[in-house]
Amino acid sequence: MRAMLSAVLLALSATRGTAQSVPRPAGRVVLLHANVIDASTSLPLRNATIVLEAGRILSIGAAPAPGAAADTIDLEGRWVVPGLIDAHTHINSLAGMKRALESCVTTVRSASTPHYEDVGLRALVRAGAIAGPEMLAAGVFVTPSLGETILADPRLAQFAGGVTTPAQLAALVNINVDRGADWIKTRGTERAGLAEQDPRKQVYSESQLRAIVDAARARGVGVLVHAHGDEGAFAAVKAGARTIEHGTYLSDSTLRLMKERGACFTPTYTTLFDLSSPGGDYDSAPLQLRAAHMIPRAADGIRAAHALGVPVITGVDTEYGPNSVSRVATEIAHLRDLGFTPLDAIRSATSVAAQCLGIETRVGMLKVGMEADLVVVERNPLDDVRALQDVVIVIADGRVALKRIPFGVR
Ligand SMILES: [Zn+2]
Repeated sequence: MRAMLSAVLLALSATRGTAQSVPRPAGRVVLLHANVIDASTSLPLRNATIVLEAGRILSIGAAPAPGAAADTIDLEGRWVVPGLIDAHTHINSLAGMKRALESCVTTVRSASTPHYEDVGLRALVRAGAIAGPEMLAAGVFVTPSLGETILADPRLAQFAGGVTTPAQLAALVNINVDRGADWIKTRGTERAGLAEQDPRKQVYSESQLRAIVDAARARGVGVLVHAHGDEGAFAAVKAGARTIEHGTYLSDSTLRLMKERGACFTPTYTTLFDLSSPGGDYDSAPLQLRAAHMIPRAADGIRAAHALGVPVITGVDTEYGPNSVSRVATEIAHLRDLGFTPLDAIRSATSVAAQCLGIETRVGMLKVGMEADLVVVERNPLDDVRALQDVVIVIADGRVALKRIPFGVR
């Protein structure tokens, strides 16, 4: 009943303009006969009982008597993995949050939204007014020309002439953090998704990027840098970027520097397949041609990064709008196709991503005491990671956010 109620509340809360539902405490949920992949070992724990309480994992393994008023779900041997992490998203709507959650994603890192929608969404999740995913917000993109995003805050009017000097860069970082940003997103190169731009072309210099990183570091937040071209990516890593986004043309020397500095790589590879075909978030002939030459380059870089031991993490660079075809489960399948073991591909979306985002003590694995973010699929994803594309149950912060098959409810 609680699950059904949750689904109704989720549906209501995901409708634009609907009053938010009352926050609900996460009750006790007991999952029986679960095969568990905790993202630290390729040996699944079979036939386990998982108890979730107050949004945390209370126990895994032994089978205590379910407490009063617990939701008990018999998984009948289905497979449980940690909720997936999308480390590069542009979710800016309630409906986008719902679509992400229903595709197994229980944690997202924003890579900027136009008007601090990510900060607002994070507040709704924290208040329990909407089901997750948990949002790490980035606020407004730190880029030389703010365009329409200059309307996001009256203080941004000072950037009408651009965001280029060290003082301007630091000021924009500070406004973002004041507004609640957990990360700062900036630009090392031009965009791939605009036909008139050249993604190989560097935008901010190393010293400009350093001004951004220094200002962010002073406020205790990390910087993620959009960089397709190698020159811009190398400058970003030297300046202290924590993660490099896209990285289509990364050279071995940049990858070695990333390894040395502990920088992570979010290739957003799936997005190139959206770019390369009609429909989806991108639908343009010049971009289809561009993607055809970007895909093999990106594939080489991802393989090289993995071989060098640079952490590769999943991000799918979408708002999760109604036309989006980009999903973290698809990115995992692509990593598998590029030679990752199934466990490594899953870790890129769970434990490794959590480490890169600095949240590994509470999400990314299924351990007692960690947040109760988990998903249930029909088949063993270590046999075929595509099983993650067919989700049955999603639990975020201990709440059943999606249950597609009403089996075993007692
Ligand atoms: Zn992006």
